[in-house]
Amino acid sequence: EGLVQNDHPLTVGMILRRMRTVNGDSEVVTLRAPGQLDRATYREVGDRCDLLADALSKLGVGEGDRVGTFMWNNQEHLEAYYAIPAMGAVLHTLNLRLFPEQLVYIVNHAKDKVIIVNDSVIPLLAPHTDKFETVEKYIVVGDGDSSALPQDKVIKYEDLLASAEPGFQYPDIDDRSASGLCYTSGTTGDPKGVLYSNRSTFLHAIASGMTDSLGVSGADIVMPVVPMFHAQAWGLAYAAPLVGANLVMPDKFLQGEPLAKLIEGEKVTVAGAVPTLWMDLLRYADENKPDLSSLRCVPCGGAAVPKSLMEAFQERHGVLIVQAWGMTETSPLGAVARPPRGVSEEESWAYRTTAGRVAPGVEARITDDEGKEVAWDGESTGELEVRGPWIASAYYETDAPEKFHDGWLRTGDVAAINPQGYIRITDRAKDVIKSGGEWISSVDLENELMSHPAVREAAVIAKPDERYTERPLACVVLDEGKEVQAGELASFLLDRVAKWWIPDEYAFIEEVPKTSVGKFDKKVLRARLEDGELT
Ligand code: ADP
Repeated sequence: EGLVQNDHPLTVGMILRRMRTVNGDSEVVTLRAPGQLDRATYREVGDRCDLLADALSKLGVGEGDRVGTFMWNNQEHLEAYYAIPAMGAVLHTLNLRLFPEQLVYIVNHAKDKVIIVNDSVIPLLAPHTDKFETVEKYIVVGDGDSSALPQDKVIKYEDLLASAEPGFQYPDIDDRSASGLCYTSGTTGDPKGVLYSNRSTFLHAIASGMTDSLGVSGADIVMPVVPMFHAQAWGLAYAAPLVGANLVMPDKFLQGEPLAKLIEGEKVTVAGAVPTLWMDLLRYADENKPDLSSLRCVPCGGAAVPKSLMEAFQERHGVLIVQAWGMTETSPLGAVARPPRGVSEEESWAYRTTAGRVAPGVEARITDDEGKEVAWDGESTGELEVRGPWIASAYYETDAPEKFHDGWLRTGDVAAINPQGYIRITDRAKDVIKSGGEWISSVDLENELMSHPAVREAAVIAKPDERYTERPLACVVLDEGKEVQAGELASFLLDRVAKWWIPDEYAFIEEVPKTSVGKFDKKVLRARLEDGELT
């Protein structure tokens, strides 16, 4: 008796209602072609969501049905982000860069009924449609050539909206029902689906907006460079409309130049992406000196963020990069590396170079080989485990008991936590180098190598070794026109890491292969090593 409205549903529909009313004047800007921007207010987006929901329901999409999106970051993708969950269906974001067999696998595994596709990526989708078992319609965004898709199933997005009726009545939705589905990029085995709920999405949006998290406010102009198919653009596409921030969408233009121009032109204040992308932007910015001073905060994660990258942006371009940690399984917000109160600029680096402080709403622990909890002393390492209302409890229709432990998600990351809750990730369990019975952190070695002025990228993998079991092999990409010998890199590392960590071998390569979400792909490097290509 006398309790608050405990059962008020926390849904994506509730964010949509706020977006189109309170925040109706805020806008989403989409880069359509170099120099060509489209703008729409959130009020207009809300009206178009009604049309999309009406049209989808007339196509037979009902509660719980999966609707795939094969799209870049743009206004129409934002419309799908809201219309689909608000009508009770499930938004399944398809990764544009998956291998074909993985794409076919996830479309069939999720049983997508409809796929909304940008015309620019039809060539990536069309060759596989004959293997899709459940797709009834392809909704094409844009006027490009769609003749490669099965013609009897194609409808144009704008035609569909034009034929729909305004004022769609959204159903009441249980906030524990599914709202979104995102498969991991599947570094081992088949991709696994993480099923987000309305409630988890709502809570995650609030949590990521908090000042110590991504810190998104109504005064911000937010550019999610991180794809909307990569862990739901880290929640930015829900957090920004919730608080009333504008969104700037780069569509397929993810190179240094268009991004820098968008930041300059739109005065972007918050932009999120993985480290490799910022490395590209840094090279462009160093050469062309765009004005990036509007950027207040750049959340960066998905892989360890090299300190050298943060320093370069700060010193040369006045841009603050904030490291964050997360995974598809954690929605993805798990930790954000904001320094505590009372530390100097100098001291703050010790915190900013961690994976972050456990975010409010997430609980973390470190377990040893026997699954027992170890102390938060900043030193003891083990597997990082997390739990909370937006953390996966299982995979979508896939058994993987080894990934879960007493209600905790096993992250596969090796880490230590300090008494204030800052997580230091030493490695992914599968990337650790076991040398002479001890562990070498590939992440630490990479960070140090990338702080060398001539090194553009560095990825360190284990090379089998008779005497030590494994030894580190450093795969290094040098800046154009620079020459450095292996011996020089080894002596550079001498006063930076333990002596026995220093790689004996260096492979100078053209580029570090990247995964579908732009991270260093060590799996490919390991395969090259096995094939004898790296020495
Ligand atoms: P995938 O597992 O397919 O790479 P995710 O994007 O879900 O897809 O990756 C999550 C993983 O990325 C984490 O388990 C962790 O290893 C790594 N990661 C994310 N953020 C950081 C960070 N700040 N520092 C180090 N590793 C990170």
